Amino acid sequence: MTFIVPLNAAADRPVPFIDLVPQFQSMSAEIMAAVERVFAEQKFILGDEVVALEEEIASYCDSRFAVGCNSGTDALIIALQALDIGEGDEVITTPFSFFATASSICRAGATPVFVDIDPATFNMDVDAIEDAITPHTRAIMPVHLFGQCCDMEPLWRLCQKYKLHIIEDACQAIGAEYQGRRAGVLGTVGCFSFFPTKNLGGAGDGGMMTTDDPELLAKLKRLRVHGDVGQYEHLELGMNSRLDALQAAVLRVKLRKLEDWSAARQANAQRYGEMFEQAGILDSITLPTVQDDNRHVYNQYCIRVKHGLRDHVMQQLRAAKIGCAVYYPKPLHLQTCFKHLGYELGQFPEAEAASKDILALPSYPELPAADQHRVVDCLVNICREMRQTQPVRRAA
Ligand SMILES: *Cc1c(COP(=O)(O)O)cnc(C)c1O
Repeated sequence: MTFIVPLNAAADRPVPFIDLVPQFQSMSAEIMAAVERVFAEQKFILGDEVVALEEEIASYCDSRFAVGCNSGTDALIIALQALDIGEGDEVITTPFSFFATASSICRAGATPVFVDIDPATFNMDVDAIEDAITPHTRAIMPVHLFGQCCDMEPLWRLCQKYKLHIIEDACQAIGAEYQGRRAGVLGTVGCFSFFPTKNLGGAGDGGMMTTDDPELLAKLKRLRVHGDVGQYEHLELGMNSRLDALQAAVLRVKLRKLEDWSAARQANAQRYGEMFEQAGILDSITLPTVQDDNRHVYNQYCIRVKHGLRDHVMQQLRAAKIGCAVYYPKPLHLQTCFKHLGYELGQFPEAEAASKDILALPSYPELPAADQHRVVDCLVNICREMRQTQPVRRAA
């Protein structure tokens, strides 16, 4: 008697949405050596490691300067404060982003003004911005969502015309490019996050701001240490938002691999696209759109599921132990804490539809090929089953 051994003996093993362990394992010796170096010196706050990382990130983004801080959220708040944006000022941004995009504006004392999104890229609808500009508008905060830059050229034009600043929320987009220029040099200040699941993730929280302006640099640096100019002289009401030397040391090791990881994320995206197309399920799902002259670095690989079917697909994937996630299930204009801003359901239909249709699939750089195949097989089966059970609408 012969047994047929399945090609993949563990065909139903769980596929995690993200797994950070293999990345660490691939470079644990270098990371631990960097950590030991910091411990040996016992210099934990700012210092040489942070300065070196700042220089390396500036060089990576082709920015003149970079300033480390405690998180991407703090980077946004400090950037706003450094530009004297606060009480009475408005900042135009997207309602379809991580919470910190809008909360940072409120934290700085200003008011977020939302505009709807482009359903193809999930980034801000740049054609909607001009109508949202008022005499109180001081800045635009585009988010390079999921790792793809917002269409910046129309923003540059508006900023010149109305004398506005651009604060890039590039927290998901380190290494992304627009017209050959990297995220972080597309506005007045660029803000990055080193949250562990970002494309360049630390061993905890961390953030960075980039700028070409030396005066702004000095202010960003002051604001991260209590507005201190030295000798306990305080020029502004800053905060304690320093980057730890430990984080910088770890991030410096990981930065050397960032290009490889971005390439791996792009390869995952490419393979997903080819396999879904080949399986003929593009009537049920929509692949991510990459705009011309953009380098998408896929912090998330997000598809759209045919309207009304996302939750079903998600449940089926989860039942098959396949990790997936929704970014973001509730647009920011509908969050309870922003009720006072006066927005209503229905006001940003594209953002609201995206929150119901979007689904992120596993796409971390080390995703094993067998796991990706399992995600595809499973999703393809779900889509085919849906097609059979759904009433087919016939032409009248
Ligand atoms: C992660 C993220 C932030 C906040 O970064 P933290 O480091 O977690 O504070 C802000 N905006 C966007 C779009 C993000 O994805």
